[in-house]
Amino acid sequence: MDTDSEFAIEVRGLVKRYRGSRGQAGIEAVRGIDLSVRRGEVFGFLGPNGAGKTTIVRMLCTLLPITDGQARVAGVDVVKNPAEVRRRIGVALQEVGLDPRQTGRELLELQCGLYRVPRPAARCAELLALVGLSEAADRTVKTYSGGMRRRLDLATALVHEPQVLFLDEPTTGLDPASRATVWDEVRRINAAGTTVFLTTQYLEEADQLCRRLAIIDDGRLVADGTPDSLKAKLGSDVITVGLRPDEHQAARDALAALPGLDHVTDAAEGLAVYVGEGAAAVADVVRLLVEAGIRPGTVSLARPTLDDVFLASTGRRIEGGTPEAAA
Ligand code: ATP
Repeated sequence: MDTDSEFAIEVRGLVKRYRGSRGQAGIEAVRGIDLSVRRGEVFGFLGPNGAGKTTIVRMLCTLLPITDGQARVAGVDVVKNPAEVRRRIGVALQEVGLDPRQTGRELLELQCGLYRVPRPAARCAELLALVGLSEAADRTVKTYSGGMRRRLDLATALVHEPQVLFLDEPTTGLDPASRATVWDEVRRINAAGTTVFLTTQYLEEADQLCRRLAIIDDGRLVADGTPDSLKAKLGSDVITVGLRPDEHQAARDALAALPGLDHVTDAAEGLAVYVGEGAAAVADVVRLLVEAGIRPGTVSLARPTLDDVFLASTGRRIEGGTPEAAA
């Protein structure tokens, strides 16, 4: 057993085929995924509905048999030694199974009992403080908000001090304030030393929370890296200048001299100027236009978003890219 590996998760050629029922064709939900997650990272899996995120998490958590390929989690082979993997991981999946008639503290104590955690009362108090539920600990769960339930769910996944915590869409269905609180808890849990592997269909969540992420679409990895490196691969910032239609050609001619220019396209009410370092180029754009006798009505700078990365990788925009859009 390799417990010294620098990787919390190593996956090679992972495949999942679901058998079809009643004469229906089966489906290949995961089509050969390679993946390495370093110890101590928050690693995100970003993809639209049906991309295969839940299927992968369930395989890594030993809840679903692997069709093909290899996976090691917390240094242990998932297929050869699933019981040991389960001892080393914590899991909070989408369907939260908390009994609403029990208090937060009772539920945590129950979980401590299941894992035979020594000094359960002290461990519960520590976890309630970690997820910000100390004051609500003795209220029944049915009085908790959605965000509080998610945080209690995080705490129950942590009772046995897992090395790796799996979270499947931890903030789906939460309002923005609760979402931000859950993000804070995930950051705190990670700062306390736990590797976090989470899935999300929210671009903002991946951007805010994950040190590295992989974009998955239709069972395949289409891109991976840090959020910034993924955006940087697109190469360009975009400066949009508002112009009258009769100014377009003269503006294009003037902007040909812009240092670092990638290309220029028509935008809704002017031109979109793609350039390596947008912030540095704004002043030059304005100067070149003014020197050519053109006064732009507006000038705005945008950096590429993860949605642009998704578009560039798959040819489509991600559905439900913001929680508001999904709602
Ligand atoms: P979501 O964001 O909606 O949870 P996901 O990215 O987690 O989506 P999965 O739930 O892993 O996606 O599903 C991947 C594909 O596998 C989908 O096409 C889904 O219909 C299919 N699938 C999932 N579970 C089963 C199953 N038990 N039997 C057959 N097909 C399944």
